[in-house]
Amino acid sequence: MNRSEIFERLADLEAHVNQINKNMVELKNLTVELVEENVALQIENENFKTLIDKEEVTKEVVNDATVNKKQPLRSKDNLAMLYKEGFHICKGELFGKHRKGDDCLFCLDVLSE
Ligand SMILES: [Zn+2]
Repeated sequence: MNRSEIFERLADLEAHVNQINKNMVELKNLTVELVEENVALQIENENFKTLIDKEEVTKEVVNDATVNKKQPLRSKDNLAMLYKEGFHICKGELFGKHRKGDDCLFCLDVLSE
């Protein structure tokens, strides 16, 4: 292998490594997007469950004169879990996004409701 061939091969290899790096970044961004979308959907699902639970409680109160002690809403626990995992559960544009380690007062507000 002569010297110019060595340089050519090095340049080729460098181009390959750069391409792999670019693909890696794209894949990473896509994964973050998908996970955040997944979390947003899960939160929406929890909110629907909460709504249904509330409606059931209202119906029970209307239909039943005795006070029915219902177990704490299960969806609250799931929201707390998602928050612990590091995602925003507060409404607005941050909804479902990764908190990147920051605490969020709006999220904590949702949990204390
Ligand atoms: Zn938040």
